[in-house]
Amino acid sequence: MVWNELLIRYGEMSLKGRNRKEFVQKLRFNIKDALSDLKTITLKSERDRMFLFADDPNDMKEAILRLPNVFGIQSFSPVAKCEATIESIQNKAIEVVGSIETSGKSFKVEVKRTDKSFPMETNELQQVVGSTVLKNIEGLTVKMKKPDILLKVDIRKEGAYLTARVYRGAGGMPVGSNGHSLLMLSGGIDSPVAGYLMMKRGVSIEAIHFASPPFTSELAKEKVMELAEKLSTYGAAVKLHVIPFTDIQQEIVKQIPANVSMTTTRRLMLKIADKVRQEQGALAIVTGESLGQVASQTLESLTAINSVTTTPILRPLISTDKLDIISISQSIGTYDISIRPYEDCCTIFTPSSPKTKPKLEKVEYYESFTDFESMIELAVANRKTYVLPREAKDEFENLL
Ligand code: ATP
Ligand code: MG
Repeated sequence: MVWNELLIRYGEMSLKGRNRKEFVQKLRFNIKDALSDLKTITLKSERDRMFLFADDPNDMKEAILRLPNVFGIQSFSPVAKCEATIESIQNKAIEVVGSIETSGKSFKVEVKRTDKSFPMETNELQQVVGSTVLKNIEGLTVKMKKPDILLKVDIRKEGAYLTARVYRGAGGMPVGSNGHSLLMLSGGIDSPVAGYLMMKRGVSIEAIHFASPPFTSELAKEKVMELAEKLSTYGAAVKLHVIPFTDIQQEIVKQIPANVSMTTTRRLMLKIADKVRQEQGALAIVTGESLGQVASQTLESLTAINSVTTTPILRPLISTDKLDIISISQSIGTYDISIRPYEDCCTIFTPSSPKTKPKLEKVEYYESFTDFESMIELAVANRKTYVLPREAKDEFENLL
């Protein structure tokens, strides 16, 4: 392989001072984590960029495939290194450009002489390298403005460094650099996307799912585990709490008038989520709610549901159209899992016409006759906890 190392550029250039240090540390940790099975890889971080080295070319190839998923990377480029002599640079330039699809592409050489004692001027060197490449590789034309291929040569004392392509990174901030939150993860399309977007903002995610067996099946749970597993590929391992919700839902059906039972169901889900959040030391709760999508997502409903807690509830999709949510879910690989048929605990018990404008006082009044608190305690205590991916249990303990 022609490449000797990868140059990784950070995003979020507005970061300053202490933040930057933490950003770089987290990013380094997350890159190592994403590549932990590639044994020959080492990293060197600097203030505004990082270098990745691999002794095994297969590890390098695999790193190039995985880095586009790691948040906090703006872009990265494979780098080829050679001796800082004119001849070596010419040969390496042919090798580097030759490794790229060139037919019909435009091209330009840009030389930087960091080592000023190098015996040839920048302009002359650009000409020499450019004409060597054109002579040896077919199908290229020269273009000074916005060429398809920009061959950059940086000449330093210890050697010359050549790059010819820039891969786009995922952008955003390193997962874990902006705290930890609890994601309410259903088997639907929206909540995995909401989790992904918060991870992109640097929030590490732990998930909670409400299951109502036997009304919801093992397959529905398996699906949620796969969604959590998919999310884990964008950051660190994801812990998933599965809450047994059947008894509470049956009690709601018995005690609460049908047209507001959905509101109560959501309120109790949120109360439970908040208890788990507190136990786990997470700072906020994330949901996939989007304004106006269904009866429980009107502003009136959200107000009635939200009033059970003062914990920040992050709703990254609140203003996003369904079609846009679908397109994100397709691009992050959760869509195909989400559209598998499954029974959601909420829809099974949903009355045909839930109120779109529930009155908080009324809902509180109806709830006041039942001791939901002790049922909530029981549900929290009886939850089952999993770590995704399934082999990552130990790793997770080190993360928090
Ligand atoms: P989704 O596609 O995420 O299921 P949705 O548009 O179907 O969202 P709802 O079913 O009303 O909307 O759910 C709204 C939000 O409540 C979900 O995005 C999710 O965060 C949370 N939620 C719903 N059902 C569950 C569940 N069974 N377990 C955990 N969270 C849930
Ligand atoms: Mg849903």
